[in-house]
Amino acid sequence: MSATTAFYFDERCLWHSTGLHALVVPVGGWVQPPAGAGHAESPETKRRIKTLMDVSGLSSQVDVRSAAAVSEEELLRVHPAGYLRQFRLLSEAGGGDLGQLAPFGRGSYEIARLSAGLVAAAIESVLTGSHRNAYALSRPPGHHCLPDLPMGFCMLANIPIAIEAAIARHGLERVAVIDWDVHHGNGTQAIYYERPDVLTISLHQDRCFPPGYGGLADRGSGRGTGYNYNIPLQPGGGDDAYRYAFERIVLPVLDRYRPQLIVVASGLDANAVDPLARMQLHSESYRWMTQALMQSAATHCDGRLVAAHEGGYAEAAVPFCGHAIVEALAERSMGVEDPFLDLFRAQQPGEEFQRFQRGLIDAMAEDFRIDTR
Ligand code: ZN
Repeated sequence: MSATTAFYFDERCLWHSTGLHALVVPVGGWVQPPAGAGHAESPETKRRIKTLMDVSGLSSQVDVRSAAAVSEEELLRVHPAGYLRQFRLLSEAGGGDLGQLAPFGRGSYEIARLSAGLVAAAIESVLTGSHRNAYALSRPPGHHCLPDLPMGFCMLANIPIAIEAAIARHGLERVAVIDWDVHHGNGTQAIYYERPDVLTISLHQDRCFPPGYGGLADRGSGRGTGYNYNIPLQPGGGDDAYRYAFERIVLPVLDRYRPQLIVVASGLDANAVDPLARMQLHSESYRWMTQALMQSAATHCDGRLVAAHEGGYAEAAVPFCGHAIVEALAERSMGVEDPFLDLFRAQQPGEEFQRFQRGLIDAMAEDFRIDTR
């Protein structure tokens, strides 16, 4: 088919198990085993994105594909052999947790490799020109994972593994990663902290996760100095905070960098009812951010834009956010009404808060020495 948007999905990614937890805490002691989904990072939020796409007809407007798992060689460009061996052995033995809040079950090693494989294939699709843009519904997520330490539900650094494969194959010199997951993209930052060839920008709720971290002062080091941007936003910030941060910082930084490829760490947990954060976005916020990056990608890199799924834990709201992003990428409108939109719009912070948050963003932009576009 001739769809311009590829959508990478594999049911096996939804079979990764995070074990018996209530939200993020293990069951036991004072914690009653939950009746429902249990762990926040459940398959349901992701499955419901795909299911909504099927029901609306959007799935037939994009090229739905699976992909191969990433190879050992591709993994080793980012992760040390010792960590990979530990992960594989514990996965074969029934699962466990090798880091901080990163539980997994039997077989998750293979599933994590597949999750990274979806992202790698999505990037390959746009670099070879078979598709203009792509969404990878990767699970488990990746943006918190350090080379040798899994964190925050992430066992492998999906996006860096995929970018390194692309650099090895295509010799890219400037890749930009925009992380709009509500939590800080600490893994991606750490991996590229000393490199100018991969620019990282993370918008996140200030001090949410990793706990207490905002990262404003962290700008990269060595040759990577000036290629790492953190935009911590105040809890309660909504549509205006993100749009203003895009207009004032994200888009001008991309203009200055002139990326050959834009990759989004697409966490949908800045939605207004997410259990793991306190921001106020809605589906139209995600549509707008997607369109803004599509425009930037059209200007700088023939539209080459890949979104890789990360967090997002509100089962009811997340599907509408994901659907809006894929609609935007595919330039389609399937007539799906987001039943939360009016409510979330009515709950946006008032003018006083917006002025305060805009002031903080202006100060960041000045500090980053960004001229108005
Ligand atoms: Zn997140």
